[in-house]
Amino acid sequence: MESEELNKYRESGKIASEVREWSKTLVKEDARILDVANEIESKIRELGGEIAFPANVCINDITAHYTPKFNDKTLIAGDDVVKIDIGAHVDGYIADTAYTIDLSGNYGDMLLANENSLKEVIKLVKPGVSLRKIGEIVDKTISGAGFKVIENLTGHEIKQYNLHAGLSVPNVSIPYKKEIVEGMVLAIEPFATDGYGRVIESKHTEIFSLIEKKPVRQREARILIDAVEKRKGLPFAERWLQKKINPMKLQLVLHDLVRRKILKQYPVLHEKEKGIVSQFEHTLIVTEDGCEVTTK
Ligand code: MN
Ligand code: MN
Repeated sequence: MESEELNKYRESGKIASEVREWSKTLVKEDARILDVANEIESKIRELGGEIAFPANVCINDITAHYTPKFNDKTLIAGDDVVKIDIGAHVDGYIADTAYTIDLSGNYGDMLLANENSLKEVIKLVKPGVSLRKIGEIVDKTISGAGFKVIENLTGHEIKQYNLHAGLSVPNVSIPYKKEIVEGMVLAIEPFATDGYGRVIESKHTEIFSLIEKKPVRQREARILIDAVEKRKGLPFAERWLQKKINPMKLQLVLHDLVRRKILKQYPVLHEKEKGIVSQFEHTLIVTEDGCEVTTK
């Protein structure tokens, strides 16, 4: 990897990790999740980064892709299990990191097993290790503690302005021959649950990304595309656009653009049997004989 590229990955990693640690103080009973997300996003900018994807605040069985709506009234309850997923970038070089806070005090064992599974992967990563082996160690660590892995969510490779680039990093042992190569940037994100161990899509979507700019006639659609084009394909939140486009129209325009394959949508994912879910995530760069965690 070029040193300039490496420096930018390190810079975004440092920003994401600082925001992550700082954000832990926001996660408390009666906090409005809209404020939590807005504050995380402001902090990324304040520290000199750009937002790689809308801050995710996923509670209990909600597993991924939940970011608050512009008028979201949801408050964190005193017994919630809250997952915060943060993405920062510098010039498109992304850092992706997540953690879970258990306000109920009932899921300590699950969170510990989940965190340990991430640590085990970090110890294992080096050139030549198979992705099957990564999945195996995650599953072994979480299952060994009596919980289930979310088998249909994976970690992923990262490239400039590309959050999910090519390779998926499984959290269960699957026949997958691909090997880790020096210079790869990987986001490792195991999820643990006391539920079934799979996520399903809900009908609710707040996160979208631009697939391809195509000519559109409707005024609001043009405003929308112009506003998100500079993200170079990185995800955005519906809430970011409500000052530019009337919220009633915004929904219609978003869904029309999804239907026309101009936008991709990321529906909220929740646990199949409404199990409680935890998540921990780090971004790392594969080195000659191991890896460097950028979001440490
Ligand atoms: Mn993430
Ligand atoms: Mn990720």
